[in-house]
Amino acid sequence: MIHTRNLQKRFQRGDFEKHALQNINIDIEEGEFVVITGPSGSGKTTLLGLLGLVDIPSGGEIYFLGSEVTRLSERQRNKLRRDHIAFLFENIHLVDELTVYENIELPLLYLPNSRKERRRIVESLLERFKISHLRKQYPSRFGDFVQQKIALARALSCSPDVLFADEPAGKLNSSEKEEFMELFRQLNEEGQTIVMGTHSLEDARHGQRTIQLFDGHVVSLASGRG
Ligand code: ADP
Ligand code: MG
Repeated sequence: MIHTRNLQKRFQRGDFEKHALQNINIDIEEGEFVVITGPSGSGKTTLLGLLGLVDIPSGGEIYFLGSEVTRLSERQRNKLRRDHIAFLFENIHLVDELTVYENIELPLLYLPNSRKERRRIVESLLERFKISHLRKQYPSRFGDFVQQKIALARALSCSPDVLFADEPAGKLNSSEKEEFMELFRQLNEEGQTIVMGTHSLEDARHGQRTIQLFDGHVVSLASGRG
């Protein structure tokens, strides 16, 4: 589904060039739950941004669903991202002026779904994450755990082929983390492809497979749970 060949990312700061990623060769197949791990500054966020078509590499190639991404125009790349990718972040960006229901519905408003179809999707996500009773409330009233569940429901509302998550449980306490990672595990069992970045070895063990980064290099590829 996603393949990289000698992927590089450099950041220029005046005369200083920072090599954030060097020679990354990885393959992610449909249905996998891959965890990108490594200490702070090792390049996890940078790699997720490249794989998720948010940022462009300084060198190398990324194949996403058969297209070589660096050869696409910005418009084509944005379309590919909109049609296939959803993101979840450590900082939870919900729209405070919209209700829980409206937040989850938001990405669907850009798709040709009917109102009825949208309602069916939102209702099933509300139910799935046990937040149906909160539908008419505003998200700022809730703690990080509930807010991150709302953000997850919103990310899933347009049925992304890949869910990218960057430290998604970073703000949660240990029991909330466990429960949130269990949601990821279940989603993956149902076929959702997930690529998650985390510095937490505790969270990393929920994935099927780990790609470990250190100073912008892949240092090991290991299978996880099971
Ligand atoms: P991680 O997510 O593993 O903590 P990052 O991908 O955020 O690591 O960062 C990897 C390295 O690239 C770090 O040294 C960071 O300072 C550098 N870096 C990331 N983004 C930028 C940027 N926009 N400009 C300059 N340096 C950056
Ligand atoms: Mg990061």
